[in-house]
Amino acid sequence: MMRTLESHVCGFWHSPAADGTVTHHAVTGVPVASVSSTGIDFSATTAYARDVGGPTLRSMSFHERAALLKAVGQLLLAEKESLYILSTATGATRADSWIDIEGGAGVLLGYASKGRRELPNGTVLLEGEPEVLARDGSFLAAHVATSRLGVAVQVNAFNFPIWGALEKLAPAWLAGVPAIIKPATPTAFLTEAMVRLIVDSGLVPDGALQLVCGSVSGLLDHLDGQDHVAFTGSADTAAVLRAHPTLVARSVRFNAEADSLNAAILGIAATPGTTEFDLFTSEVVREMTVKAGQKCTAIRRALVPATQLDAVADALATALADVRVGDPADESTQMGALVGTTQREEVRGAVMSLRSATDVVVDACTFHDVDPSVGAFLAPTVLRATDPTARSIHATEAFGPVCTLIGYDGPDDAIRLAALGAGSLVASVVTPDVDEAATLTLGIAAHHGRVHVLDASTAATSTGHGSPLPTLVHGGPGRAGGGEEMGGLRGIRHHMQTSAIQGSPDVLTAVTGQWMPGATRHVDRGHPFKLHFDDLELGTAIRTDSRTVTLEDIEDFAHSTGDHFYAHMDEQAAAASPIFGGRVAHGYLVLSLAAGLFVWPDPGPVLANYGIDRCRFAKPTYPGDTLTVWLTAKRKTLRTGAGYGEVAWDAQVVNQAAEVVAAYDVLTMVANRPGVNGAAESKPA
Ligand code: NAP
Repeated sequence: MMRTLESHVCGFWHSPAADGTVTHHAVTGVPVASVSSTGIDFSATTAYARDVGGPTLRSMSFHERAALLKAVGQLLLAEKESLYILSTATGATRADSWIDIEGGAGVLLGYASKGRRELPNGTVLLEGEPEVLARDGSFLAAHVATSRLGVAVQVNAFNFPIWGALEKLAPAWLAGVPAIIKPATPTAFLTEAMVRLIVDSGLVPDGALQLVCGSVSGLLDHLDGQDHVAFTGSADTAAVLRAHPTLVARSVRFNAEADSLNAAILGIAATPGTTEFDLFTSEVVREMTVKAGQKCTAIRRALVPATQLDAVADALATALADVRVGDPADESTQMGALVGTTQREEVRGAVMSLRSATDVVVDACTFHDVDPSVGAFLAPTVLRATDPTARSIHATEAFGPVCTLIGYDGPDDAIRLAALGAGSLVASVVTPDVDEAATLTLGIAAHHGRVHVLDASTAATSTGHGSPLPTLVHGGPGRAGGGEEMGGLRGIRHHMQTSAIQGSPDVLTAVTGQWMPGATRHVDRGHPFKLHFDDLELGTAIRTDSRTVTLEDIEDFAHSTGDHFYAHMDEQAAAASPIFGGRVAHGYLVLSLAAGLFVWPDPGPVLANYGIDRCRFAKPTYPGDTLTVWLTAKRKTLRTGAGYGEVAWDAQVVNQAAEVVAAYDVLTMVANRPGVNGAAESKPA
């Protein structure tokens, strides 16, 4: 039955004031939804995001936002079956919907885990190391990223109504920025269902998530320089939005993920009979048939050595003949329908344009248990270029199960042909020859957001040509939009402002939440290893006793570890060394002696030392040198509910001349006070 989709704005579900665009079931053609945004007050919608959603999200730490993403991801996995049922109306098979639904939830979970592991349990992100700007260390600068105070308007394409929305939502929320999602009209009914699940769960703070089904004409007029527009769709729409007068005049951040003519290159070494030749064929077939080729990353151009054109054409024709095309609800179906008949007509039009420079290799199939005159079905279509450099084959995106075979004459020609796509999201290079792989990869990298290299050794583990991953950049230069989504922390930074903060070490410590070199040290609290996580202040420090290093120490260490490097053990060779000029202590001995100086031996709040970071041996330590350690609490990260937090300690090992001989961060786990943050209550005496 046809539904009138609602939008979720200003904390309420809004029913459109007028009839909207009617979308149809991809297989049966019956009306599914009416979509319209009439009656929505876009000024109030953007204000609600900025004034209600933004402050709440920004008051949450990165870890709390990560927990929100995790909870929503888990919710969607628990409720996935209701989404799978609806997804069939988009023409998607169960496997296609898996990418959209479970893949989308996976992006939330992936970002949740990155947020917990790689971001501090605070709201400010320190980028890189501080820069010392004054010789005496009294003036520093640090780059700090803070949440922007605006809203992320997220305009999505029709082909991934769940995943496409979630890949944008995850980095925005993690950065503390509320979102307004605008799904593409043909599949908005699925995004609406997902947003309904999320809103009904009560997990999400008010104003953090709004949904506009239908046109957003007029919304962009309300944006300003703190806002962000993330667009996914065709290059033509991207070009229109990029030039929107408000976005241009107010420098609104704009990120576009547009279409691209992605290539896969069969290496010269991947001759018929090799595993790589078969891998290439399967990858092209998979990319043509998954989502019926409606993937922005799908392989549109298959570049193969001219001498192998016939072999590849035969292999593709054979493999495609085995693909079962039909009702997406049938589990044995491998390729379903396009999203609608309008879309199918667009693809047919694109194929007609391509035909001017191509011959047909395959363009027919058997449709199982469906009526292709009612549903939006299209046979997989393989074309073969008659002119490899014809503009149409490098510029016409047929957004369906369509791929063009293009012959090349040597690596330089393959690189030149790949570049004719004018910027793509991804390309695959398939060859058993490592040198050929490196030549092709470096030759095409500047035109691609991602290069996927496939050979027999990665056949079983490769994530595939068409799989964007939360940890990797999704986006590409030129025609592909010039934008970047995801890419781990890079995706989060799109929604944050980086500022260079200049000031004293104490001010920078207060701003960044990390003790800065030269900032005040508190040495009056006793041994800092006796303090619980909750009682440790940044800057809590100890200046240890001293210890003189002897030749005997060095020899004992060499014998017990087996490290007899000449600089420690061979008087003559060490004296001749341009670096040492005599025997020196092992760097690892210096670290061990330092630990002996700063460690508190009894059981206490410090539970474990789990590593060191940024270790440098700044100067040699000679027999007779006397070492002292400054150990200062540098950074604290609470592990919520774990009963402990992580503390990084700035360690400086200095010699009798106050020269730093070793500098590093000691990483420890420090218990909370009994009963705090899940820590065990203290035992009764
Ligand atoms: P589209 O026609 O460009 O539409 C994309 C989105 O823009 C839709 O939500 C659409 O809404 C909206 N839109 C259209 N005109 C607008 C305007 N003037 N102002 C504001 N919003 C506007 O693309 P599509 O047909 O949905 O998607 C297919 C295309 O997306 C393909 O070319 C594919 O390659 C590309 N794509 C790229 C990526 C990527 O990551 N690079 C991913 C998926 C798809 P309505 O539907 O309401 O018109």
